[in-house]
Amino acid sequence: MPELPEVEALVRLLRPQLCGQQIRAVHVRHAIVLRPQTARQFRTRVLGRRIAAVTRRGKYLLLRLAPQDAGWMALHFRLSGAIFWFADHRLRGHVDVAWELERGTLAYADPRHLGRVHWLEHPEQSAGIRTLGVEPLTRAFTVARLQALLRRSRRPLKPFLMEQTQIAGLGNIYAAEALWHAGLHPKRRASSLKGVQVRRLHKAIVEVLRRGIECCLKPEPDLSNPEWTMPGIEAMLAVYQRQGRDCPRCGRRIRRIRQGHRSTFYCPGCQH
Ligand SMILES: [Zn+2]
Repeated sequence: MPELPEVEALVRLLRPQLCGQQIRAVHVRHAIVLRPQTARQFRTRVLGRRIAAVTRRGKYLLLRLAPQDAGWMALHFRLSGAIFWFADHRLRGHVDVAWELERGTLAYADPRHLGRVHWLEHPEQSAGIRTLGVEPLTRAFTVARLQALLRRSRRPLKPFLMEQTQIAGLGNIYAAEALWHAGLHPKRRASSLKGVQVRRLHKAIVEVLRRGIECCLKPEPDLSNPEWTMPGIEAMLAVYQRQGRDCPRCGRRIRRIRQGHRSTFYCPGCQH
């Protein structure tokens, strides 16, 4: 499931390929991913436009269209959505929507059809984007800001970190890893953190996300392969999906628990 680092890595890989190119054709194979928009509405909005910018907000990949006022496309991947880049105009594998550009084809696919592709006048038009919290890799994400968010929350740390309206972009992987780096228990109440712990958590969030982006890009995924993955992330994981293995810091066994319908991974020896 793509979180901030995966989407940011895609932005960096796709930007040089897509920017400036005109959308020559739009193929909609499964219109369900466009809902509530129809294939016809979507096609009318994007056909003939140019891709002016490739950016990200939270876990959303955003494509700004040109000319001015041509709007945006917002792509959200949910659990199993993915994007592909083919250097020609031949589609491979399961594809829901494809954009034929001058020098290649961009494609979006989600076998479970939970992800979405929308045309928007402006990103803020989407409630999911409008309500996103602070971007953790910007200057706006300060220790004081994190402290204020933590104080106001009544939730345990792990679900707090995954709440997109608080901090945008963290999901199951990076929330678990950040808590391990900060030495904090996932069930601990967000509002109970002391100053030094807030600073530790802040540093851990930023470092885990930065390192995540690097690992997503090394080795670089081949976006033309319908089965592409980002195997580099494995190298940085301390607790995520490592239940039963030894903690790299204290040697105790990593545990897996259920927390709010999701799996949480942590070390009982060094996370308090
Ligand atoms: Zn440990």
